[in-house]
Amino acid sequence: MPSQKLIKRRTLPVNAPLVDSLPPEARTQRRRLRACHECDWVSALPPLNSGEKASCPRCSHVLVKRHRYPAQRSMALAIASLVALMLAVSFPFISFTVSGVSNRIELTQTATTLIGFHQPVVAIAVIMTILVLPAVYLLGVLWLQFGLLRDRPLPFSRDIARSLAHLTPWMMADVFIIGALVSLIKIAGLADVEIGISFWAFCAFALLLLMTSQSLDADWMWFSLEGEPLAPEGTRTGLPAGEQGLTGCPTCGLINRLSPRGRGHCIRCHEKLHQRLPNSLQRTWALLGASAIMYIPANVYPIMTTTSLGNSSPSTIIGGVVQLIQMGSWPIAAVIFIASVIVPVGKLVALTWLCLVVKRSSALNAQSRTRLYRLTEFIGRWSMVDVFVVAILVALIRAGSLMSITPGPASLAFGAVVVLTMLAAMTFDPRLIWDTPLPHRHPLLRRKAATKEPVDG
Ligand SMILES: [Zn+2]
Ligand SMILES: [Zn+2]
Repeated sequence: MPSQKLIKRRTLPVNAPLVDSLPPEARTQRRRLRACHECDWVSALPPLNSGEKASCPRCSHVLVKRHRYPAQRSMALAIASLVALMLAVSFPFISFTVSGVSNRIELTQTATTLIGFHQPVVAIAVIMTILVLPAVYLLGVLWLQFGLLRDRPLPFSRDIARSLAHLTPWMMADVFIIGALVSLIKIAGLADVEIGISFWAFCAFALLLLMTSQSLDADWMWFSLEGEPLAPEGTRTGLPAGEQGLTGCPTCGLINRLSPRGRGHCIRCHEKLHQRLPNSLQRTWALLGASAIMYIPANVYPIMTTTSLGNSSPSTIIGGVVQLIQMGSWPIAAVIFIASVIVPVGKLVALTWLCLVVKRSSALNAQSRTRLYRLTEFIGRWSMVDVFVVAILVALIRAGSLMSITPGPASLAFGAVVVLTMLAAMTFDPRLIWDTPLPHRHPLLRRKAATKEPVDG
């Protein structure tokens, strides 16, 4: 719990409004206001007890989730994750034996072997998403929560707290586990496979990492770091923030007033603010176009080549699925088909459709369109499964002409599709869905907007 002393000492810009020094839970007289990140609706947060959450009344997006002992909880989980990660990189991951030839790999070899096959970009993507970014994230959480527990934030705490939210979507340890399981089942019939300690440690790491990122209570964290400046004077609840010349900070949640050009910086966390993401539709269109183009080589070229007893057989994504069906591995064929075909194509179609209809959204369909957007944002990273399968098989199956697997050019193209569609979902601003025509506009505001007067309630 932050002390009074802590909040007084935190530095805020000179022109910052009054800082409310009561902890979030104790505040009943002054209401804390939030603008929903997905529909821009301004609402007041109720006092929250641990285990409770507050959702947007218009689109039901979760605004704040309160945990019991947030700092201790995140710190314990982050330490446990780091221990599991250290175990995962120090022991053998998987080993396989075929006709007396065996090979044992460590976790990091899933990336380093790819460099040997001239796929450095895919190798970097693998090592970053499963090891480097999660490790950086966990160390950041430790640094931050350690300072908060001592009631004295360590240097750079604000920058670290701001970066954590940006790192989360790029950590893919959980997706890697699915890739590892698919790889194991794929080769189980062809060779003897043995699972090492590192595999189990990595499973624990993926789970603990997920729990750590879920345990972060951004609202409490920012309150403890910087206090809570009051919302700009005249902010009204039950109206979109954009109409009032305001915006909610995407990182710390605070409502800020924007410059007349619709820009600014958050007075609490210094995040760049825009009324709507700049050129959101154009950027989303460009990224969608690029990923649609990359989806062609991803399917035309082989994703990997299997050499067995001197015979090389390259296989494309679809070819691999057909092969699995012929082998009778229906569940694995289904996983690969969903992750590599349905998810990326579905995402491309859904985002294209959202971009097309966003100008014609109404209060009636905005809710379902926001739900569709949320789904595309959530499922995007799961497409990486096939890239991870290639990384694992290439590292593991190395028994010369007896049996070996090499990566194909489609692995890079497909990795690019995943990253580009993820970026496309990030650049799409869901608040645009709710913008036109705005439902239940306040007559006073509409008149003021028409005469271009500043809205100050
Ligand atoms: Zn909302
Ligand atoms: Zn902020």
